Amino acid sequence: MAQARNPKWDRDELILALDLYFRHNPLNINSSHVEVVKLSQVLNSLPIHSNKPDAERFRNPNGVYMKLCNFMRFDPSYHGTGLERGGKLEEQIWNEFANDPDNLRLIAQSIIEGSHQTDVEAMYHDDEDETAFPEGRVLYRQHRSRERNKTLVARAKEKALESGSLRCQICGFDFYEKYGDLGKGFIECHHTIPVSEYTRTIGTKLSDLVLVCSNCHRMLHRRRPWLSIDQLKRLVR
Ligand SMILES: [Zn+2]
Ligand SMILES: [Zn+2]
Repeated sequence: MAQARNPKWDRDELILALDLYFRHNPLNINSSHVEVVKLSQVLNSLPIHSNKPDAERFRNPNGVYMKLCNFMRFDPSYHGTGLERGGKLEEQIWNEFANDPDNLRLIAQSIIEGSHQTDVEAMYHDDEDETAFPEGRVLYRQHRSRERNKTLVARAKEKALESGSLRCQICGFDFYEKYGDLGKGFIECHHTIPVSEYTRTIGTKLSDLVLVCSNCHRMLHRRRPWLSIDQLKRLVR
């Protein structure tokens, strides 16, 4: 009987695999290498796939090693014939991260650390933004939880209200002005510390939050590295 297949590799997982690829070329190691086994364990503990039909083989060392080999065909320093297997996402991840292995390293470390944090679990499953977040689901959830820190958001709003109104700090949009009572008190917060720096920063500081309208918030998330507030302001003008 045909076994149900495990879910495809997600961004988080491919980021971790690519990071390992740059530290250990698959040509020099095999599936029993300690780092391959370690990554297999990490992948099994990530809070992103609730459905693992073939749990026994899910991201096992063999599968991890195969995935490393899949990346070879994008590598200009490799002259053999690469495996043709694998999906489009692998190529995307390669294109996005391969030219900056140091940053990739930081993001990979942030994902591993972030995956241990309980608030990351079970939030926003299959949220469309989550699957599109370049650094993967784990860091998306962490980013969101940092900018939804109730106490800090309340303080940021209070501070803004002292000077009169809750305006987008980029384009000046005011939900109250536009939507009347419905929009009263509404504004989003963006946490400005890049996810690659999460391992070096603890918690959220008030000064890391900016108040933004929903449109500007989306635009801030759209480019890597994130646009600074001033950069986006200049674009809006
Ligand atoms: Zn705005
Ligand atoms: Zn944000």
